[in-house]
Amino acid sequence: MAKPGSDGGSSVMVMFHFENDLSFLFPYINAVAKGAELHETPDLIRFMFDDVHCVVYPERCIASPLKDREHAKEFTGRVINFLNEILERKDEIVPKFKVFKKIPVTDILKLLPITNCGECGYASCMTFAAMLSKQQAQPSKCPYVGLPINEQVTYPVHGNDGKVVSSVTLDVDTSNKEEISQTENLKSFENETLKEANASLPFSLTKRELEVLTLMAKGQTNREISERLYISPHTVKSHVIHIFNKLGVNHRTQAVVWAVRHELI
Ligand code: SF4
Repeated sequence: MAKPGSDGGSSVMVMFHFENDLSFLFPYINAVAKGAELHETPDLIRFMFDDVHCVVYPERCIASPLKDREHAKEFTGRVINFLNEILERKDEIVPKFKVFKKIPVTDILKLLPITNCGECGYASCMTFAAMLSKQQAQPSKCPYVGLPINEQVTYPVHGNDGKVVSSVTLDVDTSNKEEISQTENLKSFENETLKEANASLPFSLTKRELEVLTLMAKGQTNREISERLYISPHTVKSHVIHIFNKLGVNHRTQAVVWAVRHELI
């Protein structure tokens, strides 16, 4: 525990060490912690916990600012509980491997028309660009940003014990619209089909989730699914997470295998 400086404005910082290397938990913290930023070099994850900035390295955690010694002690206990909770719930959490990369605001501004129209929900293009730079907004919120040329999709690689051991990132060419524009006959989910498939699940899939699952089986990205179903990429992502949680799987292939087994595709 340390109190830098001696002036009235200084605050306490706390550091504590872990018994084991915690880096395997980083993608799970990245998925659930507020404002999480996963970094590769050095290997660390930052997040906010009760307005306190936490930086977790594989072997230690540093948190600040804290009011005083008592606050530091109490806060340390709560962060440890938070991390233990993530560890316990690990199998229910869809890990997020996305590494935080800060893009210069000036680069982002080149994509925007600078009209400050406010349609994105932010007061100005500059504010929106700043939020995008910190990865706290989605580009699709601005209707004037074109479609991406490509999209990176990261898939988890599982070891023999089913645990995530690494990940593979693929570039998806989103400019190839030929396949997307083909007339697709989404299988109509009659009540009986849906009922039978859902009977095997603790929580039923909705009709919309089944539609998303069908498009996932066709190899479509979240962006492509959003265009096909006229919903935002963010909504598609939520559907995908719900599908994973309901099926008890953690990647797209497993979800698709489940759908094929139940003759939904
Ligand atoms: S919607 Fe686009 S153009 Fe309008 S304020 Fe937001 S970023 Fe700027």
